[in-house]
Amino acid sequence: MSIVSNSLKRIKPSPTIAVTQKAIELKASGKDVIGLSMGEPDFDTPDNIKEAAITAIKKGETKYTSVDGTLTLKRAIVNKFKKENNLNYKSEEISVGTGGKQVIYNALIATINPLDEVIIPAPFWVSYPDIVLLAGGIPKIIKCSEKNQFKITPDQLEKSITKNTKWIIINSPSNPTGACYTQKELESLGNILKKNKNIFILSDDIYEHIIYENFKFFTIAQIKDLKDRTLTMNGVSKSYAMTGWRIGYAAGPAEIIKAMRKLQSQSTTNPSSISQAAAVEALNGTQNFIFERNKAFKERRDYVVESLNKIDGISCLKPKGAFYVFPNCSKFFNKKDKSGKKIKNDEDFVTLLLENYFVATVQGSAFGLEGYFRVSYATSMEKLKIAMERIKSFCESLS
Ligand code: PLP
Repeated sequence: MSIVSNSLKRIKPSPTIAVTQKAIELKASGKDVIGLSMGEPDFDTPDNIKEAAITAIKKGETKYTSVDGTLTLKRAIVNKFKKENNLNYKSEEISVGTGGKQVIYNALIATINPLDEVIIPAPFWVSYPDIVLLAGGIPKIIKCSEKNQFKITPDQLEKSITKNTKWIIINSPSNPTGACYTQKELESLGNILKKNKNIFILSDDIYEHIIYENFKFFTIAQIKDLKDRTLTMNGVSKSYAMTGWRIGYAAGPAEIIKAMRKLQSQSTTNPSSISQAAAVEALNGTQNFIFERNKAFKERRDYVVESLNKIDGISCLKPKGAFYVFPNCSKFFNKKDKSGKKIKNDEDFVTLLLENYFVATVQGSAFGLEGYFRVSYATSMEKLKIAMERIKSFCESLS
């Protein structure tokens, strides 16, 4: 009999971390691997934020804090929601955790009972279904087509609701597609959710600031009748290039926030006091660099989308946000590489691309939609140029 619990057996390790691990091994064996598989900006954390952390250390802010965040950070978060999203929260409606991932984990584990269903539009961020499974719930995966820019339609939503639906997760801008829901699209989905009053909405806004071409970000809690049932999660990892600092937060109904705090009090206690001080500066300090960095991201996105679409057999949408694209590679299925290995699916495609041409990407099936692969363009233009050449050569080598 295995020591491992039944609940843990229901889940798998994060596939994006698995690909990255393989790339690290190839690199260690001397191969010149270009990693386009990780979900983190290549930029450094801005200096003013680093300085705030150094100051906190020097001032002795190195002790336990309140479980779900210092009052100063909660105030900065309340202010952020007011200023950027026109949403009013009290500090009891805010929870801070060790990264956005812990916040989502807390929310789902603290609220899901066995057999509760969670609607997850696919392609999705890899952790949602596994956290739901760990909690004993049922991920209700709804495949969203390329023709709808990988977004769930009101019709799909309506059909997927049952009496057991507890949550729906909306992620905009999306990881892995970069797709962004417009205000109108969210209002259409919202009209269905207004009629189904038992459903809670988890809005994952972690890529809120990484948007292009003046896309107007809107979050579903801004729909008046839905705010009381919406937990809006966000964090500093992506917008402020702070993935290693591990700070995420959420705003929503006090009852959920309290339950999340109880769970966190019996697991990690508070997020790092120093990282919290840095997050205060991230939210309250200058935001100018976000605009500058988005300019660089946009240039890379345009280059990557154009290069991929020039490759015979690949087609790629141009999304309005995040730093990912999600090209279609299904035309290569049943083709063989030079050594005669057959590509049966997207996993074979990315595996052979990594093994033969040393470019690390992630198969679409890891995100719940087969026939695609995710390219993260959060890396230098120089590397992207080489990577695009290699992807082209790889595709041309298949017959
Ligand atoms: N949500 C989405 C859509 C993400 O892509 C990520 C990170 O990759 C997270 C949440 C978690 O962010 P964090 O690194 O703050 O835990």
